[in-house]
Amino acid sequence: MPAERNPKDELVNINHELAFLLRKRSELLDAQSAEECKRRMKEAASIFDGDTYDALQALLKDIEKMQSNTIKTHSLLYSRKSQRKQTVVDVNGNLIGDGNCHFIMGPCSVESVEQVNQTASEMKKRGLQLLRGGAFKPRTSPYDFQGLGMEGLRSLSKTARDHQMAVVTEIMSPSQLEEAYDLLDVIQIGARNMQNFELLKAVGRTGKPVLLKRGLAATIKEFMLAAEYILREGNNHVILCERGIRTFGTETRNTLDISSVPILKQETHLPVIVDVAHSTGRKDLFIPAAKAAVAIGADGVMAEVHPNPVSALSDAGQQMNHQEFHDFMDAMEHFLTPKTLAAIHQ
Ligand code: PEP
Ligand code: MN
Repeated sequence: MPAERNPKDELVNINHELAFLLRKRSELLDAQSAEECKRRMKEAASIFDGDTYDALQALLKDIEKMQSNTIKTHSLLYSRKSQRKQTVVDVNGNLIGDGNCHFIMGPCSVESVEQVNQTASEMKKRGLQLLRGGAFKPRTSPYDFQGLGMEGLRSLSKTARDHQMAVVTEIMSPSQLEEAYDLLDVIQIGARNMQNFELLKAVGRTGKPVLLKRGLAATIKEFMLAAEYILREGNNHVILCERGIRTFGTETRNTLDISSVPILKQETHLPVIVDVAHSTGRKDLFIPAAKAAVAIGADGVMAEVHPNPVSALSDAGQQMNHQEFHDFMDAMEHFLTPKTLAAIHQ
């Protein structure tokens, strides 16, 4: 069962309930004023001639439509209009959305304790603390490696604890969430489950950070509305992840929709990160894609790392080996000077 919420989560929950009640209140007030308008229109019918009355009624309809559209966008919880302040998601002290670039790294799938331990040690050398690894794997073919399940998650969790790191792992169903809850720090919702509404609601009822990935062919609006499902339940620790969408191109695994980053940053108050692994599927593009992500305003970058990628049980072609990982971090550290960050955020 999900653990009890801490006071901070409770407060967030109360704020959401208050926001929900205030929204309901304004909807009721609106309904009341619509009734009042109707009554006045009836009165007007006896005063004006037919044509004037019709024109007035058409005008009133337009006003009603405009009002309800404004209310809809203003009251969406993800919207910058409902919250101007940037949300900063705290993952064991890593403040995602604080203006720095945070790296989430680790293997595509957890395959053994040794494998995750080796990668975690390399990450630790670079000061990274957000360890990803799939234990429940959403695979296109049911005959492909499906992940080690709870056993894999236990290995990942132990490794993370030993290295003082946080666990980022995908959950595919509400029942998996219950089982895995105490062993993870960030609940990843994969691209294939972006519109699994019961799952979104279930993670929304927890107080844990959620990393929500954009669906394979989801519009930006659909992506934001998926986040709304989580926020509406009271959990506002949501990180959005652009991971590429399907287009006609064949040079890359997916098409990294880089412009979605500033759009999401403008439209929402949530932190946005870019997964350079699943979007490009090409290690030779990780560094330029990650630089582009940061330059365009992303709050973090995700990529896959494996001690021996050729033997990996999933996504063998797009995982960096440890040397490649260090080269990637060298390039990013060189790029991410305080001057560059200041220029990006000005
Ligand atoms: C993953 O990050 O392990 C993954 C499966 O990615 P996506 O859901 O973006 O395909
Ligand atoms: Mn993968």
